[in-house]
Parts: sequence; structure tokens; C-alpha cells
Amino acid sequence: MRRTWIGTNWKMNFLLADAEAYVRELTPALRALGPSGPVTFVVPPFTLVREVKRLSAGLPLLVGAQNMRFEESGAFTGEISVSMVKDCGADLVELGHSERRTLFGETDVAVNRKVHAALTHGLVPLVCVGETADEKRLGAAAETVARQVKMALHGVPRDRIQAIPIAYEPVWAIGVGGIPAEPGYVSQVHAVVREAVRDAHGAEAANGIAVVYGGSVDLQNAAAFLGSPGIDGLFVGRAAWKAEGLAALLRLATEAPPRR
Ligand code: PEP
Repeated sequence: MRRTWIGTNWKMNFLLADAEAYVRELTPALRALGPSGPVTFVVPPFTLVREVKRLSAGLPLLVGAQNMRFEESGAFTGEISVSMVKDCGADLVELGHSERRTLFGETDVAVNRKVHAALTHGLVPLVCVGETADEKRLGAAAETVARQVKMALHGVPRDRIQAIPIAYEPVWAIGVGGIPAEPGYVSQVHAVVREAVRDAHGAEAANGIAVVYGGSVDLQNAAAFLGSPGIDGLFVGRAAWKAEGLAALLRLATEAPPRR
């Protein structure tokens, strides 16, 4: 049975005091999670990863970085390597977010190298995929998402695929001005993700991989996403930037777990 994943990317927000308050306010909700409750994760900016990890010690919370360089070290001024992310105590690393792809030129090839580096270092690679508005309008959403998934997972041994959650985040749905996707549409695209995994890695990997949705999720629409087939959880931006927002989504996902 696949686990439910609920988490948030803080993007380039939050200073130390904000992170301290966030973890303090989230703690009761984390303590209330049972062993079969959602896998909960937060993805702070690099500067806060070590501190959030320290503040949440002993709590069921995965802490991630928003990006990394796949090389161990070297002449890459301003970059953070996979081993540095690991050294901060991170559990997870987010790869291929649409802002990284669009604003910083992250390619499918780079995402694939990062997936391998993350697995080698014992980090959970959270791979983000999703089509642009133009790709959707011109009927190429499925091709885009299938290509991103296939390239991200290329060369990963079958028995490691289930360690790689996929976040389907249509570019047109995320951030300010984003329009939440219809749950039925998300279910269709999640089936495309699973099909791409099945083609390349077999049915067991396809059935076991977690596929979560992100894009203008809030407390009003979250239940509809979790109730739509094949949606294993939620990756949330703005609606979880207050601890009470993430806590409310955790309660919802516990009371009404995803339909499988
Ligand atoms: C995101 O940017 O990945 C995201 C899901 O943001 P939001 O929930 O704010 O649309």
C-alpha cells in the first residue's frame, strides 16, 4: 500500500525566526500523526535546512532542500552540492521544480543526474514534473509529463523506483495567478505518470511509486484532490506557509486518506 505524502516548499521565503515559529506551531500536529499517517515534509531554503532539522529532531518530519548540484564539490561558485545537502542533515531533495526549469535552465538530463546523486547519498529525490499552459493548450501535456518522468528515472534500478516520489505540478496551476487543475484531469495525468514508469521499470514499480499533486492546493479543494483516483498526496506552496495550514491539511489527509 502506498503511503500518503503531504508537504510544502517554502521557496525563497522565511528567516530563522519564521522557521522556529513554524516548527513550534506544527509540532502538535506532527505528534498527533500515527504510524500510518501521511509522510510529512517541509522544504526550506538552504540556509534553514540544518536548523529545521535540529528543531524537528524526534518528530515525524522529513526536511528537504529545494535543489542541489550533482557534483560532490568543485568550482561551482554559489552552488550547493549533494554532499553538502546531506551534511546539513536533509532527508530529501526537491528536483526539477518548474521555477528551476524555467528560471534557471534545469534540464531533464540534469534532473536525472541529480536523482542518481541523491539516491547514492541516501536522500529522497522528490521529482517535480508538469506541462506548461502552451503544452496543455496544444495537446502535448501527456507527452511532456511522460518524457520528464522517463528521463528523470532513467537508469534507476527497479527496486529503487519506489523511493522516488513524483510531484505532478502543472506550471499553469502553481503560484500566484495559478489555476488549480480539475481533480479528474490530475487523475488522468497521474495515470500517464504511472504508465511511463510501467513502460520503463515494470508494473511493480508503477504500482508502488507515490504520485502527488501540487498547484494552488488549499483547504477548500484539498479533499477533492485526495478523493480522486491515483492522487497519493499533496505538495503545497502558499496554503501551507503558515504551520496551521499544513496542520489542517494533515488532519484532512488523516481523516479522508486518498482513494487508491
Ligand atoms: C509550487 O509552487 O510548487 C506550488 C505548489 O505552489 P502553490 O501551492 O502556491 O500553487
